[in-house]
Amino acid sequence: MACIFCKITKKEMPSSIIYEDNSVVVFKDINPKAPVHHLVVPKEHIQSIAHLEANHNEIISKLIYTAKDIAKKEGLSGYKLVFNVGREGGQVIDHLHLHLLGGWPSKENPDTCTA
Ligand code: AMP
Ligand code: ZN
Repeated sequence: MACIFCKITKKEMPSSIIYEDNSVVVFKDINPKAPVHHLVVPKEHIQSIAHLEANHNEIISKLIYTAKDIAKKEGLSGYKLVFNVGREGGQVIDHLHLHLLGGWPSKENPDTCTA
């Protein structure tokens, strides 16, 4: 049986799609963790970053460029791009996806990395 994000990319399940082309779909996260929270999802089913193979170079690049373009269109001056990898990394849906998170007021970013 197809996974939930395969169903969304094939329009077998409803979602709030904001962008689509031949290889990726971007839709609103159903349980947003930021004022703007979108998921950038390849149409190809790849389980996670840990399952990437050499032929996935192009799609990974595409996910990042798509996130950048959507962030610009939505007027986000700063944002986070996050891949959760595996259960211990917080991944719940086993279909690769890039989280685009942003829209906080400039001095209220809740989670600034100081490393
Ligand atoms: P992750 O924890 O990295 O696997 O993220 C999965 C994300 O998918 C979570 O932020 C969920 O809120 C989101 N999500 C789960 N089901 C749906 C859905 N049907 N439509 C949109 N987002 C979803
Ligand atoms: Zn899938």
